[in-house]
Amino acid sequence: MTIVKVKWNQSKCPTPFACKKCLQICPQAVFRVDCVKTERFKETDPNEPNVYVIIPFYVSECVACNKCVEVCPNGALKIKIKEPTPAPEATAKA
Ligand code: SF4
Ligand code: SF4
Repeated sequence: MTIVKVKWNQSKCPTPFACKKCLQICPQAVFRVDCVKTERFKETDPNEPNVYVIIPFYVSECVACNKCVEVCPNGALKIKIKEPTPAPEATAKA
């Protein structure tokens, strides 16, 4: 089975809630944006760095179309595809 990994680099995307381009373009709705810092009775500022994070939550749904990588203005996303290793018998016959 082919395994797809989606990597998000926080240092290149400190304010994801102010951008959200990857969330909007992904045809599989792989991403989720979560708030990691909340203060009672205070609205969270989407422009404050490192308050929101991108989580490739439904990574098993990723079809490796690369649209998120192409749309990201900061190069904060990477898609890695790991092909399955052929079974020993298949290699011997080839
Ligand atoms: S590669 Fe395509 S399917 Fe996968 S997370 Fe990016 S936009 Fe979504
Ligand atoms: S498109 Fe890039 S910069 Fe924008 S929220 Fe997604 S990862 Fe961050």
